[in-house]
Amino acid sequence: VLRRCQICRGEMRFSHREYAGKGSVAPVWRCTACGALARESARAAEPREAPASRRKRQLVDEGPPQNPVISPDVAAKLLRDPTPDA
Ligand SMILES: [Zn+2]
Repeated sequence: VLRRCQICRGEMRFSHREYAGKGSVAPVWRCTACGALARESARAAEPREAPASRRKRQLVDEGPPQNPVISPDVAAKLLRDPTPDA
């Protein structure tokens, strides 16, 4: 069954689907003559296929996070009170 544009009675072609909320989609049709868009009433979205056999690779051998290295100089400064009383 051909859809007809309500404006110019031209032929409507399926354009895309729009998300219509609550897991439903609404097919959107486009007039091949004047380009008018017509959205159908929403209907339940098609179930998505689960991506098959695409396992995430586990990160290996990264080891524990390294501690930032503080030089003895800096450590000594940090231990001292840096704010002398005036
Ligand atoms: Zn049209």
